[in-house]
Amino acid sequence: MNLLGQSLQELRALAQDLGEPAYRGGQIYHALYAERRFDLASFCNLPAAFRETLAEASAIDLPRVVRRHISGDGSVRYVLALSASAKQAKPATVETVFMPEENRQTICISSQAGCAVDCQFCLTATLGLVRNLTAGEIVGQVLVALSDNAAALKPQTNLVLMGQGEPLLNYDAVFAALRILLDQKAVSLSPKHVTLSTSGILPGIERMANEKVRPKLAISLNASTNQQRDQIMPINKKYPIEELLQTCARYPLRPWEHIMFEYVMLGGFNDAPEDARRVAKLIAKLRAKVNLIPWNPGDLPYQRPDASRIEEFQRILIDKGVLAFVRYSRGQDVMAACGQLALLQATAAG
Ligand code: SAH
Ligand code: SF4
Repeated sequence: MNLLGQSLQELRALAQDLGEPAYRGGQIYHALYAERRFDLASFCNLPAAFRETLAEASAIDLPRVVRRHISGDGSVRYVLALSASAKQAKPATVETVFMPEENRQTICISSQAGCAVDCQFCLTATLGLVRNLTAGEIVGQVLVALSDNAAALKPQTNLVLMGQGEPLLNYDAVFAALRILLDQKAVSLSPKHVTLSTSGILPGIERMANEKVRPKLAISLNASTNQQRDQIMPINKKYPIEELLQTCARYPLRPWEHIMFEYVMLGGFNDAPEDARRVAKLIAKLRAKVNLIPWNPGDLPYQRPDASRIEEFQRILIDKGVLAFVRYSRGQDVMAACGQLALLQATAAG
């Protein structure tokens, strides 16, 4: 059994199964997630005899770093090998990105290997769905990125579920992982600093609305009409824009929270001033922000708009009272930017 990804309750039950009091499970939980120890021999809060029993019954199976692609801007794209397990029969490879900033770091993790959603502008889609990740593999990505950069960590860690995969199509594992990542007694990230991005899986958003512990919600809008969105995001035929926005209107935002709409800007396709006006109208009644993401090149038939076009789009949104930001992705030279995660070798040094 992989200890990583196990909840407090599961670890308490494990301790009891191994003939120890339940509180020993709490000690494992603390050593693993709060102290981030990955070697059972170093769990000094446990008696030596129990450490041995535990080592026979379980392991700490962290994703294995196959490659680090280091970008000129300091971000690191990790290629991680995930082994087969009781929960997932086949091995897989995914990517995690670590982005250092002055006072914080942002970690971007994958929720699935590949993705089935098939957005036309996204390189991950070309992999198809390989498999879901387990809770341990999702938590493990964060722990690998933190421990690999332990010497240079800043006080704040932001986490985004924006790597490979559609998180709301792997709901149970993603939320099992998030409960550990957001628990102040475990990895202790703040819900204000964790963002889950979805292509708009409505049943998943509705389920997320009822979670006690949940990250912020980001939605990949990426188009201003159904006709346009149908062309680049086939999921729009199942969950069209008006239903998506109705679900957003019902979503219970916390006082400090906005819904983040992501809008990948595809030159000549969705970047016209009329698009900006339509986007402003669509989300006018919501407490929302818009992140404009200039398209990052991959081997796909799209292009990034000119800077002036992007600025004009943003200005129209702002003039209409919408909070709008342009987000240039980091790590493009090592294929670490949004939509570039498809296990490719970087062309630049890294
Ligand atoms: N599957 C989820 C999360 C991962 S994608 C989702 O789609 O929301 C994270 C973001 O990257 C999404 O907003 C997606 O629209 C965007 N994206 C995908 N390919 C891109 C590309 N080539 N350039 C810029 N952004 C891209
Ligand atoms: Fe999947 Fe997101 Fe890429 Fe769409 S944009 S194919 S949902 S990873």
